[in-house]
Amino acid sequence: MTNACTSEMENPFLQLNQLTRTFDTKVAVDGIDLSLSEGEFFVLLGPSGCGKTTTLRLVAGLDVPTSGGITLNGQDMRGLSPRDRNVAMVFQEHTLYPHMRIEENLGFSLRMQGVARKEIKERVSETAGLLGLEPKLKLWPHQLSGGEAQRVALGKALMCRPTLLLLDEPLSNLDLPLRRKLREEIRTLQRRNGTTTIHVTHDQNEAMALGDRIGIMSEGRLLQVGTPKEIYEQPNCLFSATFLGSPAINLIPAEVLPNQKALRWGLSESSVPLPRGASNTGGNEVWAAFRPEDALVSTRSEKPFDVHGEVEFVQDMGHEIRLFVSCGENSLRVRITQPAVEVTEGQTVYLKINMEKTFLFRKDTGDRIVSDES
Ligand code: ATP
Repeated sequence: MTNACTSEMENPFLQLNQLTRTFDTKVAVDGIDLSLSEGEFFVLLGPSGCGKTTTLRLVAGLDVPTSGGITLNGQDMRGLSPRDRNVAMVFQEHTLYPHMRIEENLGFSLRMQGVARKEIKERVSETAGLLGLEPKLKLWPHQLSGGEAQRVALGKALMCRPTLLLLDEPLSNLDLPLRRKLREEIRTLQRRNGTTTIHVTHDQNEAMALGDRIGIMSEGRLLQVGTPKEIYEQPNCLFSATFLGSPAINLIPAEVLPNQKALRWGLSESSVPLPRGASNTGGNEVWAAFRPEDALVSTRSEKPFDVHGEVEFVQDMGHEIRLFVSCGENSLRVRITQPAVEVTEGQTVYLKINMEKTFLFRKDTGDRIVSDES
């Protein structure tokens, strides 16, 4: 797995080197190191205020780093204007000129650059074709739906054939079905034209669906970088573990027993073996974490279903059933993956938690506890 601290790449297309932006005392972007390969679709994922937009603005050249550097396609970006970087950015709110028809909006930047009329016409037609905008070319922005306007904004960005495309939550003002549709369109389009892209979102589903790789951001720092699968299956810290996954990962307070490869927690009377890959930190207070799908469910008390609890709530999602199980002090989220199990509210169920897929995190720092041997 690649993580934020060890991300090394031969000939990166974009490289952020200890990128930092401070506003008075607020550190909005805190020493980010990141390498992207050419043609990659990278998603910056994190909660509101964690520094995603500031990072994009620095890369675009709309803001200046307090320290650190940016290299794009082998060129140091210091002192270069957004236009000289050939970086295009699409914002949450579309930025179409209301007094120009859609075709004029699409061609605007190229007109400003003095590109010949014939070429602009050809490129407008090509871009409209890519985005399904041909029937809209003669309309005014106010005659478009939100999704169509965002599609035009994307088209405007692509018209200049940017070296790098930056998307700052372009879908967040749209309703869910449209969001999903446009998300697929963006991914297909990017696959086709191969423009290296950074997409910013706070929506984990969007990140998982779009990203070749995802970077998890919190409080200005890049905590983990990896493919969606890597981050989901091997979170390197509590924040990554809890930010990805719906329903959320289960967190159980636990204690690593000194000098035994075992863990005590409130889910069972006897201790359980330490998860594979976790070190014996001896007496440490930890969070033990497992995903809702990493518990098997039985309606009978039988080995090895050694955790039991009462079903508080059943959520039938059609494609899966989710259980909320009260187990002593803990309320567990469980996703039933065995089709034969039928459960009702109030019933006692027996769980077998997959310790191979259980992670331990330090309670104080949130760091994953990993054995040196693993
Ligand atoms: P959101 O998802 O809500 O857009 P974000 O992750 O994009 O959030 P940023 O907009 O990058 O976060 O902001 C990061 C932090 O920097 C926030 O605390 C914000 O208030 C602060 N910040 C951003 N721009 C400025 C500015 N010009 N002056 C002062 N503080 C700023």
